[in-house]
Amino acid sequence: MRRIHFNICFWFFLARISFVEADSLDLERALGQAVSGENEKFQEAQAIFEALQKQGPPSPEAFYLIGFACMRLHLPAKAEAFLRRAKEQKFTGFEGWTSVDVLLRRVEQVSKLSPPLLDPKFNGPIAVYASGITEWNKPVLTAIPDFIKVGHNIFGDALPSLHFYLFSDRPTYVQFYSAMFESEISTWWQDGTGSMNIATYCERDKDGRISRRVGDPETVGSVLHELGHAWCSSYLMNYHNQNYHRICPPWLDEGLAEYVASLWDRNYLTRRQRWLRQKVKNSSLPSFEELQNSTNFFGAEADLRYWLSACLVDRLLGSDARLIPKVLDALAEKRNGDSAIRAVTQKDPATKYKELVDFLLKK
Ligand SMILES: [Zn+2]
Repeated sequence: MRRIHFNICFWFFLARISFVEADSLDLERALGQAVSGENEKFQEAQAIFEALQKQGPPSPEAFYLIGFACMRLHLPAKAEAFLRRAKEQKFTGFEGWTSVDVLLRRVEQVSKLSPPLLDPKFNGPIAVYASGITEWNKPVLTAIPDFIKVGHNIFGDALPSLHFYLFSDRPTYVQFYSAMFESEISTWWQDGTGSMNIATYCERDKDGRISRRVGDPETVGSVLHELGHAWCSSYLMNYHNQNYHRICPPWLDEGLAEYVASLWDRNYLTRRQRWLRQKVKNSSLPSFEELQNSTNFFGAEADLRYWLSACLVDRLLGSDARLIPKVLDALAEKRNGDSAIRAVTQKDPATKYKELVDFLLKK
């Protein structure tokens, strides 16, 4: 997936708050700080807002902030009511922040472009939105119960709930993506993404052709890969109040998503290893440092770095999927992917990467 960058010019809004009651003021200050681009503590923001509500009707600024946080959490339906309350009270947004009107337009766009929830009586860890059953999405939809099993095997009762949007036409997907994430799809080969509370996939590529072969295990695995991103980033926000994409290096982010996909299909990694052994005959392999840098990682020939990361994470975690939440717990504490892996597995990622490269180069 691509990283969603978030730049806001944030400033303290306290001067504009009419509340005089100290506790409320403290809470509103804390809410502003939690939502700011510097912190992005959206889970904490929700708890603060609940505490504020107990003290009386929140200010329009507070409604805006919690609506803003919900948009960043990719929960537009939840954001809408808060943003409307801010608008009703004539609040338009802070200078340098996305305005109330723009956020509400995004909510409206997402609602218009979203495929319907497949099962209206839905009550489970993956809410699937799709425009009916297509030849392409049928094998994916059939695999959803298995995906949920994979998720439970990794996270147990801490499995985060997700909204999963499947698109059958590209223009709708592109517009939906822009409204949901407030950014454009940055890489031409990207057919899906996974982030806090959300995973998406489009069955058509940028040229309108079927993106991946119908029913192929690679296709179904690619979808599970995006759910892997979504579970990891949601877990880190739900339980540690941190933005995964800010602290996880690309090799670990993509490697974990690949590892999740391999739990559904063990041959997933065998195919990558076979491909890499062929590839090394004609290409030089990147250094471990090169896998740490996002700009480099997602550039030309990204497959090579994705699949090296897949095999590396497999070597580091072995067969114990329950290590994933432990790695995420350590990542939240150390804010460094290499240190997190070392703390949980007692293995050094750079050393293991060298072993992987030596293995691939061996005749
Ligand atoms: Zn990915």
